[in-house]
Amino acid sequence: KGEIICIGELLIDFICEDTGQDLKEGETFVKKAGGAPANVAATASRLGAKASFAGCVGDDPFGDFLIDSIKYHGVDTSMISKQGNTTMAFVSVMDDGERDFVFVRGADEKYQIKGFEERYSNCSILHLGSATALLGGNLKKAYEEALNLALKNNVTVSFDPNFRGDLWKGREDEFINLAKEYINKSHFVKLSEDELYMIYGEKDLDKALNKMYETYNHVAAITLGSKGTYLVTKGQRKIIPSIKITPVDTTGAGDAFVGAFLSLLVKEKDIKGTLENFDNLKEIAAQANKVAALVCTKIGAMTSLDVITL
Ligand code: ATP
Repeated sequence: KGEIICIGELLIDFICEDTGQDLKEGETFVKKAGGAPANVAATASRLGAKASFAGCVGDDPFGDFLIDSIKYHGVDTSMISKQGNTTMAFVSVMDDGERDFVFVRGADEKYQIKGFEERYSNCSILHLGSATALLGGNLKKAYEEALNLALKNNVTVSFDPNFRGDLWKGREDEFINLAKEYINKSHFVKLSEDELYMIYGEKDLDKALNKMYETYNHVAAITLGSKGTYLVTKGQRKIIPSIKITPVDTTGAGDAFVGAFLSLLVKEKDIKGTLENFDNLKEIAAQANKVAALVCTKIGAMTSLDVITL
């Protein structure tokens, strides 16, 4: 036991460097490795955990680049398949702070799980944190199968719904229903404040959490940006303050928080017991806040992992 498996998308973010221009006008793009579950695996691995990423990249140069990018951080890439063209997201941040966004879905949706039953004999935590899986495709089926097998094999399940408004336009209700389903089957969930409000239809932290805990029984970390993290269990709630830094780029801060949290959790002999010990959880969340804050001090989600320590 002791492995963390993260399943989902590993994709290219093409980030427009022509400040203030939309995607129609912008001409210069930088290529970055992205994908929330891959960021989580890379963070956990950097902090000393055995972490694997499972997903499909394109059978193209971008796929090779992506595999190398997470291998660099020590992630086990043996569960990655290659097929078709790599998934790509083009992003530009305009003067008013709005993002112009084009998503070209490719290989990530083709992922089919293979060998999970065997792999689960060494696995302690399954992390489901994809921004694309619940949209559909084979990856959605893979999520259902991986989750059911994890529950059958006593693997702890972590979930981050990773809502992207650009991807769910007009299908928000479908997202809410799916997110609730996954939350209710998980042992640890990380939600941003906005996701919590959206999923539970309340605009107040405690009211939304009361709604959530009508059907959920385990641990939640609600990320509050510079304020820190609201750590929640069925019986206890506490804001764990973040550390003071000057943020340069907060992209991937949430993924770094999850990666750090899981890397600390997996070190515990009794993971399920730790998830019931609020004092232990407070300590883990404080350390994860520190890692997430460090990630905010450098540009890029995966590149900034070079600066993290526990
Ligand atoms: P993502 O950034 O991946 O989309 P998210 O919305 O969950 O995810 P945030 O709430 O911005 O991300 O941040 C996650 C964690 O990062 C916070 O809980 C906190 O620990 C840390 N963090 C974020 N912003 C700051 C900041 N300005 N100063 C210190 N820590 C921060």
